[in-house]
Amino acid sequence: MSDKANEDCYDVVVIGAGAAGVGVSIALRHAGIENFVVLERHSVGASFEGWPAETRFITPSFPTNSIGMLDLNSIAIGVSPAFSLEVEHPTGEEYASHLRGVAQFFELPVREQVDVLRVTKVGADFRVDTKDETLRAKHVIWAAGEFQYPRLAAFSGSEFCRHTATVPSYEDLEGDNFIIIGGYESGIDAAYHLACSDKQVRLFDKGCPWKDESSDPSVALSTYSLERMREDWFERQVELFAHTPIESVLQVDGGYKVKAIDGRVFDTTVPPLLAGGFDGSHKLLADLFEQRKDGFPVLSEHDESTVVSGLFLCGPAVRHQNHVFCFIYKYRQRFAVVAKAIANALGLPAEELENYRKWGMYLDDLSCCGEECATC
Ligand SMILES: Cc1cc2nc3c(=O)[nH]c(=O)nc-3n(C[C@H](O)[C@H](O)[C@H](O)COP(=O)(O)OP(=O)(O)OC[C@H]3O[C@@H](n4cnc5c(N)ncnc54)[C@H](O)[C@@H]3O)c2cc1C
Repeated sequence: MSDKANEDCYDVVVIGAGAAGVGVSIALRHAGIENFVVLERHSVGASFEGWPAETRFITPSFPTNSIGMLDLNSIAIGVSPAFSLEVEHPTGEEYASHLRGVAQFFELPVREQVDVLRVTKVGADFRVDTKDETLRAKHVIWAAGEFQYPRLAAFSGSEFCRHTATVPSYEDLEGDNFIIIGGYESGIDAAYHLACSDKQVRLFDKGCPWKDESSDPSVALSTYSLERMREDWFERQVELFAHTPIESVLQVDGGYKVKAIDGRVFDTTVPPLLAGGFDGSHKLLADLFEQRKDGFPVLSEHDESTVVSGLFLCGPAVRHQNHVFCFIYKYRQRFAVVAKAIANALGLPAEELENYRKWGMYLDDLSCCGEECATC
């Protein structure tokens, strides 16, 4: 790696061109910030492109913009995936193409195939190290997501399992008898598609997300998944094991032994599928954020690190109190907050951001609607 720092110092470097990186970059534009760059290790929307082919958005898209309400999967004012894609539940590939179109439309300064290896703060500026160069920036927005950082080490023998994030297509998986570990959205999605191909599935979860009484889809299953679980063939092909944490997986001659904490052992000839979530890219910056008890970064009311000023987090890892911002319609609420904080630091008035308020987007607020809200 070259030690030579780039001559230019950007006002902002955004890392990652997924839904969060593209969305917050548009907010930077609306805040009047021009001297910024988006660094993307693959291409715009790469994580969505990597979803299993059959997987679709659980949050529906609908062209609601004309009445001043954003499409649930929109990342910017005036943008609607429903309108541009003409589908209600886009596939990952469809949504990636939507993001590419949006990035082009807003002429975002995205540099693709640039993998960020390290972020450090030296004096007042950040050093952003990539394989080939070091960039300097006054502010950094970390938006590198979770999908490319799956949780692989969940229990002994999890290396024998296959994470659902690495499955190109459920239809192409060989075998007839599957075990899935994790029963939230990805696990149910995998079970649904396998059952659809006439496979037998046993699905294990340490809790019971399909019976959770919370009305927050960050905790309980979405209506889209619950609806799919009511299909006759889902009920016929999929056996659900609630409150059954898996302790270990053993590879044996001709297959795998999956052992639950209650001592039961389940055999399968196919590598078990792991649907246990993601470690998340924010772990790479563990030294630049304080950590909450749950391991997520402690953030200021502007989603800035509380130990390194000028470093912001955007995307599904954002947490405030008990609010989990893991869906697009949740974490997009923070884009204008971050853009406004950076614009203020740069001495820009950012008047255009006031428009976000009209669309129900946050500008200064920390949480959605306070403790009275039944969904929080
Ligand atoms: C199967 C599945 C279904 C989902 N369904 C829904 C849904 O229906 N509705 C919803 O709202 N949310 C859904 N989500 C969640 C949603 O996909 C994520 O919240 C979203 O992808 C997060 O966007 P992001 O921009 O933070 O991360 P990503 O989309 O992962 O984007 C991060 C980008 O950063 C790049 N990157 C990573 N590391 C580096 C690096 N070191 N240097 C440079 N670039 C880097 C990546 O290539 C990637 O393009 C789903 C997630 C999954 C896995």
